[in-house]
Amino acid sequence: MDNCIFCKIARREIPSHRIYEDEDILAFNDIHPVAPVHFLLIPKLHIESLADIQECHQALIGKMLLLAPKLAKEQGCDDGFRTIINTGRVGGQEVFHLHFHVIGGRERLPGMIHYG
Ligand code: AMP
Ligand code: ZN
Repeated sequence: MDNCIFCKIARREIPSHRIYEDEDILAFNDIHPVAPVHFLLIPKLHIESLADIQECHQALIGKMLLLAPKLAKEQGCDDGFRTIINTGRVGGQEVFHLHFHVIGGRERLPGMIHYG
């Protein structure tokens, strides 16, 4: 996709701090980290969101999920981490290229969303 920021990162047209890359997947640090460890895992294939995955993506998504804990540990998350996939308008997705946030550090992360 020509104008997709994460496709541009995958094509190296926009710089990023890469922590992992293979033929299918890329992981790079989030530009606005919310914790000491905050990286994004993306498929190189442009898939808009989790709501757009198909049967044919099963192996790719499985590979991404298997990578998440390995990379988290490599980045120093040896006592847990959080994985977030914002999806669509209600999910607060800002970049419409599927990505898994992996967030962690030394301290316990704040709780999940609470509705008043
Ligand atoms: P989301 O709300 O899940 O779509 O989050 C998109 C994430 O992409 C945000 O956490 C942004 O900080 C991050 N982001 C946007 N542009 C870049 C970039 N050029 N390099 C790294 N992370 C980015
Ligand atoms: Zn894209």
